Amino acid sequence: MLQVLEGQTLVGMEISDLRSLLGPKEPTYRARQLYDALYRKQVADLSEISSLPQAFRNQLLKSHALGLPEAEHRYDSSDGTRRYLLRLEDNRTVEAVLMPEESRDTICISSQVGCPVDCKFCLTALMGLERNLTAGEIVGQVLYVARENGLKGGDSRINVVMMGMGEPLLNLNNVLKATRLLTDPDGIGISQKRITISTSGIVPKIAELGQAEVRPKLAISLNASTEEQRRALMPITRKYHLADLMQACKRYPLRPWEKLTFEYVLLEGVNDSDADARRVVRLLSNLNCKLNLIALNPGPGIPFETPDPGRVHAFQQIIRRSLPCFIRKPRGRDIFAACGQLKRVSTDLVRLA
Ligand code: SAH
Ligand code: SF4
Repeated sequence: MLQVLEGQTLVGMEISDLRSLLGPKEPTYRARQLYDALYRKQVADLSEISSLPQAFRNQLLKSHALGLPEAEHRYDSSDGTRRYLLRLEDNRTVEAVLMPEESRDTICISSQVGCPVDCKFCLTALMGLERNLTAGEIVGQVLYVARENGLKGGDSRINVVMMGMGEPLLNLNNVLKATRLLTDPDGIGISQKRITISTSGIVPKIAELGQAEVRPKLAISLNASTEEQRRALMPITRKYHLADLMQACKRYPLRPWEKLTFEYVLLEGVNDSDADARRVVRLLSNLNCKLNLIALNPGPGIPFETPDPGRVHAFQQIIRRSLPCFIRKPRGRDIFAACGQLKRVSTDLVRLA
C-alpha cells in the first residue's frame, strides 16, 4: 500500500519524498520512473505514464492528485504577454504571467496567495495574505504555463522570476524546495542562473537564503533612497531597517557569475528626483549589482502617479555613471499583468477594462 499523506500532491515531491511514499514493497526504480514522468516528461495526467504498470497507476490515482493547477482565465495582452489566473486544489487562485521575448520567455510566478507586506504602491498588498503556496504549487505554475505554450523545462529560453504575488522570503522553505525541483538536471532542468526571486527585504531570510546550496538569484526591491521614505512606502522597513538591509546585501555570498539586482519603482514627485538618484548611487556604489527602474504601473486604490518618460530617463542617466541601470518596460499593462498589478479578483478586470 502507498503511504497516503493528507493533502499531498505528486508534483512538489522530491525523489526522496517519492521513495518514502512508495515504501519498500515497490522496486527501487519505481520512484525514479515516477520522478522522470512528473518532471522530465512533464505529464499532465497520470494515465500518460505508460512506463508504469496499470495496477500501480490506478492505486496512485486513488490516493494522490497530480496537483497541477487549472486555468480559470487567460488574458492575452496586445504585446504578447499572457496572464493566467490559476486555480489550486483548494479553489483559491494565483496569477502567473508569460512574457515572450525574442531570445527568451520569462515566466513570472507567485509564491503566496496574496501578500502580508503592506507596500503602498502594490495592488497585491490590498489582498492581505491568504496562505503560502506549497513547493508543488510553485513548480506547478511553471509546468502549466510552459506546457500551454509549447515550452519545455530544460529549454534554455525559459527564465523564471518569482515576482508575482507574495513575498518569497516569507515562504522560504517551499521556495527552496521548488527551486531544487526546477533546477534538477534529471528533472525539469532550468539553470539556477535563470531563476530569480525578488524580496521586499526580509533581512534574516536573506542570510538564510545565502546558505542554501541550490538557490535562485536574488533581487531586492529598494524603492526608496532614505530610511524615512522607505518606511512610508514599505512599512516593513520599520521592522527591517534600510541600513540593516544594505548590510545584509554586503554580506550576501554571491556566486562567481552572480550580481545582486535592485529594483526601484519610480513614483512621481515621491522618490524620483535627481537627489534621490544620487542617494541611490551612494547606497549601492560599493556593491556588485545592477539597478532596474520600473515606472509605477497604476491601479485602482494606488495613491501615486507614474513619472513621465523624461524623468525616468534623467534618473537612469545619474545612476548609470556609477552602475549598470536599466528601465524595465511595462508588460501587459492592458490586462493588468504588469508588476504590482496582480490582484486575483477577475471581476475587477472586467469592470475596469
Ligand atoms: N514581494 C516581492 C516580489 C513581488 S513584487 C517584492 O516586493 O520584491 C515584484 C516587483 O514589483 C517588486 O520589485 C515591486 O517593488 C514591484 N511593484 C510592486 N507594485 C508595483 C507597481 N504598482 N508598479 C510597478 N512595480 C511594482
Ligand atoms: Fe508584497 Fe512585493 Fe507587493 Fe510589497 S511589492 S506588497 S512585498 S508583492
